[in-house]
Amino acid sequence: MAEPTFSPESALVHAGTERRPGAPANAPLVSTSIFVSQGDPESGRLYGRNANPTWEALEQAVGALEDAGAVAFASGQAAATALMLALAPGRRRLVLPSDGYYNVRVLADRLRPHGAEPVLLDLLDPEAVERALREGPSVLWVETPTNPLLRVADLARLGEVAAAADAPMIVDNTVATGLLQKPLEFGAVASLCSLTKSASGHADLVLGAVVSRDERLLQAVREWRTLSGGIPGPFESWLALRGLKTLPLRIVRQSESALAIASRLTSHPRVRAVHYPGLDPATRELARGQMPRGFGPLLSFELDGSAAEADAVVAAARLILPATSFGGVESSWERRARHRAETAPESLIRLSAGIEPVEDLIADLEASLEAAG
Ligand code: PLP
Repeated sequence: MAEPTFSPESALVHAGTERRPGAPANAPLVSTSIFVSQGDPESGRLYGRNANPTWEALEQAVGALEDAGAVAFASGQAAATALMLALAPGRRRLVLPSDGYYNVRVLADRLRPHGAEPVLLDLLDPEAVERALREGPSVLWVETPTNPLLRVADLARLGEVAAAADAPMIVDNTVATGLLQKPLEFGAVASLCSLTKSASGHADLVLGAVVSRDERLLQAVREWRTLSGGIPGPFESWLALRGLKTLPLRIVRQSESALAIASRLTSHPRVRAVHYPGLDPATRELARGQMPRGFGPLLSFELDGSAAEADAVVAAARLILPATSFGGVESSWERRARHRAETAPESLIRLSAGIEPVEDLIADLEASLEAAG
């Protein structure tokens, strides 16, 4: 009988485990800066900035989500930096979403003195992207759904546009994770994930990863990791590996809760607009096609009021935690424009649905909207 093939969910549970008698059931936490070695330094693990068995187990798990290889980093930003640097030779232009994660824009801007030419665009306009890519050798940096406006870009269309221009397409997959969305299937050469968020899921670490099937690109980002030193800590890697085992359970429930909350908010008198991938009729079908298992834990809404009133709503919650970041088991929210480089509307509140019962979250949300009214 043919060997069965197993799902990414099973790979997440078993990544890094050995099956020999006496082996521990979980990948061990290996805390060391040196490995026993002599002779040819290329022949095995040598030094803690080059390799670590706990990172390798984490990379197995993260790669399995997209049937690809992975390189883990100290943070999502370290992963983004390595990718930008690895793809820079011969390509100065970096076409980026104007409404994505603001620190990626800031990072691209800081690379200007080093030759980068960031171009900010609305990626929901593929013709504009096509024109921009025709201007010269470029990298197309996609984020979908975007943080914090949760806009959905057409990955298949952008993949075609990038291929026609011979531009590598990168997808920041942090909001959906490789469980809900598979950018490599749409022509992306690599996807990027901040493991700080849903992937690890417990708001207890900062890590990131690059996922790709292109061995040369993986090797290039690995070399940038070694040279720049943006390496993941073994303990964080071990925690992330533990968190990833339950990603499928968490993110499906969180997606259901986020959709229920977003739907409830659409008819709330204090709310001017709600942003969630499943809600906008213009991109609903697209979102369903790209994220068939759920739209993720993140939603945002614009309060019909001032920034101060939005701050008061956030402060009034008794369950939802006032905090940045997203994807943890605990629900959290923040008024996004409190960050200076953020371009979101002043009264926009970004909410990450946790695993608490959705009735509790809706009760807390409605009480907060009322208390701060
Ligand atoms: N990409 C997106 C979409 C993010 O939201 C974030 C962080 O919020 C990052 C990348 C950066 O990840 P990290 O905070 O792990 O460096």
